[in-house]
Parts: sequence; structure tokens; C-alpha cells
Amino acid sequence: MSDLVTVDGARGEGGGQVLRTSLTLSLSTGQPLRIVRIRARRRRPGLMRQHLTAVRAAAAISRAQLEGAALGATELTFEPGQVQPGEYAFDVGSAGSACLVLQTILLPLLTAGGRSRLRLEGGTHNPLAPPFDFIDKAYLPPLRRMGARVEAVLERPGFFPAGGGRIAVRIEPTARLEPIELVEAGPILGCTARAVVANLPRHIAERELSLVREQLGWPAAACRIETASALGAGNMLALEIAREALTEVVCAFGRRGVPAERVAAEAVAEVRRYLDANAPVGPHLADQLLLPLALAGGGAFRTCEWTDHARTNAEVIRRFLPFDLRRESAEKSVLVRLSA
Ligand code: ATP
Repeated sequence: MSDLVTVDGARGEGGGQVLRTSLTLSLSTGQPLRIVRIRARRRRPGLMRQHLTAVRAAAAISRAQLEGAALGATELTFEPGQVQPGEYAFDVGSAGSACLVLQTILLPLLTAGGRSRLRLEGGTHNPLAPPFDFIDKAYLPPLRRMGARVEAVLERPGFFPAGGGRIAVRIEPTARLEPIELVEAGPILGCTARAVVANLPRHIAERELSLVREQLGWPAAACRIETASALGAGNMLALEIAREALTEVVCAFGRRGVPAERVAAEAVAEVRRYLDANAPVGPHLADQLLLPLALAGGGAFRTCEWTDHARTNAEVIRRFLPFDLRRESAEKSVLVRLSA
């Protein structure tokens, strides 16, 4: 049996990503995992529903031996068997992010040697997690360029706090992931703004888009309002910037007591930072790309900033997979290069 890897969940960012990355790599490398001080740097440490669902999903696809997995637990041991492709359904049971559960098990299933069908329920549009639109348009396309054969469909959106969203995922087998380079920004092919409202007045979306037109100068034809049918109320503004190399998706979420203009201003500010850096990879995709690149044995990307999430993820990955990571800072961006 491979050696047990012990991970301190309090390291770096000290959030849920340390756990999820550890689970993914335990599945992909077969190394058993012991994780302590789970989410120690969060206001309510330990496993919340989203994290517990990710642990159970990782255990289900690998028939793992699991000890200590319970709501609120701060330590657990996870000993995976071989990853089994197949049909699986996982329900977070709250508005916790189903997209983060998907990210935990997706990479090991891509190369598991058979077709898989997944149904994930919970939140699909959460602040502080990749929204479905980001998974679909920003995260999956680079994976496909690495050889992944995966499609995801949003069957029903689930906004915080009601949840109730559903995602269906189809995976066809791939032998291995290949390295890619996402270094040149290249010309912008198009920009799109979508303001989504569920069980909320349309004027919220109108006001958000009006600020986008005014501040970013995007034409009316590039802006659209979508009315979604969801369990509870929800509002998201998604700003998409398409380049040949990839599409960046910046999302901001409406909250009670926060004017629509302020929500839109948050997204606009993030888009400005992204465009100003002239780098193809946004800050969220940067931390999320490290894992597939490390599994592929290398690759490179240029991004706007090296965040705490990225630094932490790189440290956790190194506990399971040896790789060399070099960073070269330019004036407004950073080039990240991984090699085995
Ligand atoms: P906690 O931190 O409370 O444990 P968590 O489990 O959601 O919560 P984090 O460690 O904060 O975990 O990781 C959140 C992940 O979601 C990171 O990979 C981050 O890049 C990603 N993310 C957050 N906001 C966005 C966004 N707007 N678009 C895309 N990805 C996002």
C-alpha cells in the first residue's frame, strides 16, 4: 500500500480547497490521506455539508475506507480503492456548492477507464465558489484541450440560500491528460453580459446591465437578461470575455440589502483588473488549473495574480505529486510554469 499522506488543513488559506485538493489527489495517486484541522482558518471550521458531500462522493467513486467523516468533523482518514467509472448521484442537501463537489471527483473520473454519468444537486450559483457558468465556459474548455471528454448541463439553477440546483455531467474515457500552455492573451473575440434573475424583479437585471454598458462600454446587443426558474430568489451578473485561448467568466451575486449597481460595480472592477493584466487566465481559474496541470505532468499559464488560494493549492499538491513550479512576474501579470 502507498504511504499515508498527512495534510494540515490549516495551512495557507486553511479553507475547503485544502480538503478537496487532497481528496482529488488521494483518488488520482492512490495514496491514503489523513487530514487534520480541516478548514481551521474559517469562521466555522470543520466539514460543512458541501465538504462532507465531497468526501462521501470521493469515497463512493473509489469504494474508500473512511473514518471520521461527519458534519463538523475536523479530522478524517480516507483510504481510496481504485476509482470506478459509473453512474453516481450526490446531493449536498443545502445550498452548498455542487460545483465544488464536481471538481473534487471530476479529474480522477476523466481517466478512470470508462464512461461516467453524474447528477449533482445543491447550489450551482454560489458566491465564493465557481458558479456553473464558470465551470461550463472557463474551467471545462481548457480540460478538453488537455484531452478530457466531458460535458456538463445545468438542469436547474440553485442560488444561495435556497439551493435546489441540479447539474448533469457526462464523461467519456480519456487515457491521460496532456499538458497545455495558456500564455498569450491574444485578441478579444467578444464580450457578453448576462444578468440572471430568479423570482426577483426584472429591473434588478436592467440596472446591472445599464451599469455594464455605461462603465465598460459594452453594446446593448452584447447584454441580455435571463429569467431563471429556481427554488428561491437569486440574481447573478456574469461577464464573459472570449479569447481564442479561453473564455474568462466573472460573476457577481445579488444579496439582500445590496443595490444592483453595487453588484454590477464589483463585477466591472474585476473585469477591469483582468483586462488590465492582459493575461488569458483569471485569478480563480489560475488556482483551479494547477491540479490538472500537475496531473498532466506540466504546462504553463499567464494570470493576473498569484493568489493565496493558488499558493495554498500548489503546496497541497506538492504533498502528493512532486513537481517544479516557476513563477516569473511581469509588470501586471505572472507567468506560471509547472514541470514534472
Ligand atoms: P471555505 O473556504 O469556507 O472552506 P470553500 O470550501 O468554498 O469554502 P475555498 O477554499 O475558499 O473553499 O475555495 C473556493 C474555490 O472556489 C477556489 O478554487 C476559488 O478559486 C473558487 N472560486 C471562488 N469564487 C469564484 C468565482 N467567482 N469564480 C470562479 N471560481 C471561484
